[in-house]
Amino acid sequence: MLAFDVIIIGGGIAGSVCAKFLAQSNVRTLFVEKCKTPRPKACSGIQFDYFARIVGEKFPRDKLCHHQLRRLEVHRPDGSSVRVPYFMYSFTRDVFDDYLNQVAQDKGAIFRDECSYAGHEEVDGGVNVDLNVNGEVEKLSCSYLIDASGLRPVVRRKLRPDDFQPTSSGGTINYYVEGDSDLDPQTLYQFWNLEWNNQMFAWVYNKTVDGRDLWVVGSGYDHDLKMHCESFLVFIRAKYNLNGNVVKTEGYSASIDFDSPDRVWLGQGRVMMVGDAAGLVDVTRGVGMDAAALSGRLAAKAIISARTSNKSAMDEYVRYTRKMVDQTRRNQSQGISTLSTNEALTAHLGATMRTAGLRMAVNFVLNRFRQPENVTLLP
Ligand SMILES: Cc1cc2nc3c(=O)[nH]c(=O)nc-3n(C[C@H](O)[C@H](O)[C@H](O)COP(=O)(O)OP(=O)(O)OC[C@H]3O[C@@H](n4cnc5c(N)ncnc54)[C@H](O)[C@@H]3O)c2cc1C
Repeated sequence: MLAFDVIIIGGGIAGSVCAKFLAQSNVRTLFVEKCKTPRPKACSGIQFDYFARIVGEKFPRDKLCHHQLRRLEVHRPDGSSVRVPYFMYSFTRDVFDDYLNQVAQDKGAIFRDECSYAGHEEVDGGVNVDLNVNGEVEKLSCSYLIDASGLRPVVRRKLRPDDFQPTSSGGTINYYVEGDSDLDPQTLYQFWNLEWNNQMFAWVYNKTVDGRDLWVVGSGYDHDLKMHCESFLVFIRAKYNLNGNVVKTEGYSASIDFDSPDRVWLGQGRVMMVGDAAGLVDVTRGVGMDAAALSGRLAAKAIISARTSNKSAMDEYVRYTRKMVDQTRRNQSQGISTLSTNEALTAHLGATMRTAGLRMAVNFVLNRFRQPENVTLLP
C-alpha cells in the first residue's frame, strides 16, 4: 500500500496552501482534486492584502484580473452609501487555484486531479484512505488525513452526517455581463438589502474571464434564489446603465448548516478539517479564502510540530486556530439571517458598521506588523 505522511482531499485554497507548507518541510504529501484542473469555481475571488502573506507568495500579475480593486462602496437599504479607498486582490479561481496547485508541487507535494475521496478508516497510528481514480479504487495509507473539500465536505459528511441538511441550505448566483456601464471597474460595490440578499450583501465588480473584462452582478438567498438575484440584476442595470448580455451564469449551493452552533468543526483524531470543510467560511464577513489559507497553513504547522514533539497534532491545530475560530463563531451570532425588514437591517448596520469600520482600520495597520499566522481576519 502506497504510504504518505499526509493525504489532503481537495485542491482548492485550503488544500493547496496546506500541501505547500507541508511539502516545504519535507513532509510526504499527496493532495487530490476530484475535477480536471484548471477547474471552475463559483467565487468572487476577492481578498485582502494580507492574503498573499498567509499564502507566503508574491502573486504573479498574470494570475490576477486586469483590474485590481482599489475602492469599496457600501450601499445601505435606505439608499445612502459610503465609499472608502481599500486595496483588494481580484482573481478568477480557475487560474488562481491552478497556480496554487503548481506552487505546492514546486515545493515537492504530489498532486493528482480527477482523483476523488472514496472512504477512509482510522487504524492504529494512521489512516487508510480509498481514492477513486478512473472508476477504480486505489488504497493508500497516511499518518494524517485532511479534509479540504469545501462546502460539501466529503470526509466530514462521513464522520458527522448530522451537520448537513437534506436539501440545500441556500445558494448564490453570479451573472456575468459583457457591456458598457457607469460602474467603476476598480470598485467593489456592496448592496445591503433584504430584497436581494438575506445572508449578507449583494455585489457588483469587474472580473477578467478568459481575457474579457465582464461585470459580475451577484447575490444569494436561502429561498427563491433566482427571483431575488434577477431582481438585483434588474436594479443594477437601471442604476448604472448596464447594457449588454449575460454571457455566463454561475450558481452555488451549500448543504452544510450555516446556522448550526456546531458549524465550525476542526476534526478528530488524525483527521483534520480545513477551510470551508471546517465551516470557516464566514457569511458575515462575506469571505472565506483567507480562513481557508490560514487554516491550511496552521494544520500544516500543527502536523510538523507533532512530528518533533509528543504533542497531538489535533490539539496543536485547535490551539493555533483559536483566534480565527472564536471570530468566526462570534460573527455567526451577528448574522442578518434572522432580520425580517430593511428597517431592522438598517438599525443592525448602524450598530455594527461603526465598530466594524474602526476594528478594520486598527487591524489593517496592526496586521502589517503581525506574523502571517497571527493576522486578524478582516473586515
Ligand atoms: C459565490 C461565492 C462567492 C465567494 N466570494 C468570495 C470572495 O470574494 N472572497 C473570499 O475570500 N471568499 C469568497 N467565497 C468563499 C470561498 O469561495 C471559500 O471560502 C473558499 O473557496 C474555501 O476554500 P477551500 O479550499 O476550503 O474550498 P474550495 O475552494 O471549495 O476547494 C475544495 C476543493 O475540493 C474539491 N473536492 C470536493 N470534493 C472532493 C472529493 N470527493 N475528492 C477530491 N476533491 C474534492 C473541489 O472540487 C474543490 O476544488 C465565495 C463563495 C461563493 C460561493
